[in-house]
Amino acid sequence: MVPLGRLPLGRLNARLRSARTWIALGVLAPVGMVAISGLMLADLRRDAWDRAEQTSRNLLQVLERDIARNFEIYDLSLQAAAENIGAPGLAQADPRVRQLILFDRAATARDMGVMLVIDAQGDVIADLGAVPPRVGNYADREYFKIHQARDGLGLQVGSPIISRLTGERMLPFSRRINRPDGGFGGVVLGTVKLTYFENLFREIDLGPGGAINLYLADGTRIMRYPYTEADIGANIAQASTFRRFVRDRQGSFIGTSARDGIERFYAFTRIGTLPLILNVALSTWDVEAAWFAKALIIGGITLVLCGLTIALSLLFGRELRRREAAQEALAALSRTDALTGLPNRRRFEEAFAEATETARRDGRPLSLLIVDADHFKRYNDRYGHPVGDEILKALARRLAASVHRPQDLVSRIGGEEFALLLPDTDVAGAGRIADRVHAEVAGLTVPSAGIGAGAVTVSIGLACTGPGGGYGGAAADLYRLADGALYAAKEGGRNQTRLAAAPAPTPQRGPLQLVGRA
Ligand code: GH3
Ligand code: MG
Ligand code: MG
Repeated sequence: MVPLGRLPLGRLNARLRSARTWIALGVLAPVGMVAISGLMLADLRRDAWDRAEQTSRNLLQVLERDIARNFEIYDLSLQAAAENIGAPGLAQADPRVRQLILFDRAATARDMGVMLVIDAQGDVIADLGAVPPRVGNYADREYFKIHQARDGLGLQVGSPIISRLTGERMLPFSRRINRPDGGFGGVVLGTVKLTYFENLFREIDLGPGGAINLYLADGTRIMRYPYTEADIGANIAQASTFRRFVRDRQGSFIGTSARDGIERFYAFTRIGTLPLILNVALSTWDVEAAWFAKALIIGGITLVLCGLTIALSLLFGRELRRREAAQEALAALSRTDALTGLPNRRRFEEAFAEATETARRDGRPLSLLIVDADHFKRYNDRYGHPVGDEILKALARRLAASVHRPQDLVSRIGGEEFALLLPDTDVAGAGRIADRVHAEVAGLTVPSAGIGAGAVTVSIGLACTGPGGGYGGAAADLYRLADGALYAAKEGGRNQTRLAAAPAPTPQRGPLQLVGRA
């Protein structure tokens, strides 16, 4: 059967068990959530703006049509009056008949202010509102002077004025009367009450920051909603917003109001061919307010969820790491000898299997020393078990001090039996280590028990594989050979090293002696 770990599914499982994967998922998922809600909010904002733009454009169109239509009707009345005033016999006609001929019915509409026919001297000669006409001279009015000075101006719309007849604010519009010879024959004047615009605009709800403005082409404000007395007649010709109204004739843009500094979305248009500019302005804040409230809630919830997800995955990751660390510690503990702190027999067996395999594969020498305390039973008997333990601990320290290379492994493999596994070490090197072990052990003392230097001795069985080794057999036999050599060392009188050797034993110098294979 194929082990699970080799299958992709198994690998996935292993990944999911890793703390890092969970932390990565826990961080990536919120990034995705933030991205999605960001896109959604951007979409909602776009919708809010689309709606606002549509609303302003519709409003602008409705208002423009209403104003243009009324002005057209009033202008037709003006034109009729300007033409009919020259009709033969009109001057001699009955004033009531003359009234009927001059002014048509449309001119009596509610929002119409006054309608007068003024002669070349500025005196009123016909008055829509009174028969006989109310007396007055208008030669000083701007509209009179303009028409007097030039012909062919068509319909003129002037700045708001206060009517001398009614005292109301009015917007004057006028046409020149030509005498049959083309000379100046006077002016027909009509006015529209400013309340007409006020009432028209008042019906519309644009939000607290919204506004509707009507300007003359020269920048004079005719009406503003919400209405403030001071706004009427003000000139904003220099404002950048107004320059744009004039330049583009119609369109929309976002700009900052010269009047109150509020940022607004402006939709604007010229009214027909009239010198009037109308705009509907929505404060950008009003446009975005509902969206913003929604964004706060959605954004807040998303952030809280993301925070929770991140916090949970960090916690989960930490817990996994802690468990991994605990498992590692446990694993290490299960391979450590409790008394001496050296690697235990299990660890030795693993390392031994690995080392023999590596040595075989790489063709490198591998040496094994089995070290056994001599007559250890006697120490226990004489000093007691606790002192025996102390000696074992001291012995462990001495053995550990005898090797220096990182890959060397000193382990306790039995009661008073130790193993030194020396990879990449030939017989000569291993012999030197064995000598060092004897020297180190010779210096072992346990002062508390009165055990002095030289009291404790060890016997060592040494076996070596690979080139230069005393023995060229299989690595797996190494342990058995070293054990045999140890037995020989005991037999030979203890406190010495024996090398498991090739059949022909070669005598060695010092404590190292060869053991013939039995
Ligand atoms: P030899 O020279 O032949 O090895 O004699 P020995 O007495 O060392 O050998 P033996 O195998 O007969 O006895 C080993 C003794 O080691 C038995 C036991 O009392 C002692 N021993 C084993 N493990 C421990 C331990 O953990 N602590 C202590 N204090 N003594 C131990
Ligand atoms: Mg012993
Ligand atoms: Mg023993």
